Amino acid sequence: MRGNLYIVSAPSGSGKTTLLDQLISRFDDLIFSVSFTTRRPRGNERDGVEYYFVGRDEFRGMIDGGEFIEWAEVHGNFYGTSRAFVEENIEAGRNVILDIDVQGKKRVQEQVPDAVTVFVLPPSYAELERRLKERRLEDDETVRMRLAIAKTEIERYGDYDYIVVNDTIEESARVLESVIRAGAARPANQEARIGDIIASFGGVDC
Ligand code: 5GP
Repeated sequence: MRGNLYIVSAPSGSGKTTLLDQLISRFDDLIFSVSFTTRRPRGNERDGVEYYFVGRDEFRGMIDGGEFIEWAEVHGNFYGTSRAFVEENIEAGRNVILDIDVQGKKRVQEQVPDAVTVFVLPPSYAELERRLKERRLEDDETVRMRLAIAKTEIERYGDYDYIVVNDTIEESARVLESVIRAGAARPANQEARIGDIIASFGGVDC
């Protein structure tokens, strides 16, 4: 049985990383796809955990080698999702979650049309600004740029299946958990079980 693919997008600084950590701890069969990026590590970020940090030449080589299911330039850096990681895990029946921007979401959906998509909205512009400044990981210019890009990104919210307003991590994790449990209830994800049940009734008369 194939696993499901979940795509989560959110403006930078909306608390998405903490939210996804919480979410993943609630499931045994949900794994996070660690992206490749040319951006420098921020704060306590570790290579292979939050991202695989690579140089631009290495990233270009990976593009040329067809190693990404999608890649995009975001905030002046490159970010990409490993095709092999996503495909192998989905095939092995695991649910995979991607934290990617609105451009990446579009490209993945072209290839995996049944991916479930979620947009995480900050409660307000002022709150996003406060959170970005509070984490003190970037200079003022970068914060301004991230806020400007957030404005354009949130306009795409209507293209997503679900919207989670991130008032508190606890409540948002609960909503996301429901989305994932609902995904598992889709008929396509229960074919084998349903088949057995139908067979126990002597099959279906069509
Ligand atoms: P940050 O630098 O704050 O970690 O991430 C910046 C933006 O890049 C976020 O919107 C995040 O979702 C997006 N992003 C992270 N990884 C990927 C990826 O592999 N592909 C795409 N398209 N966007 C990504």
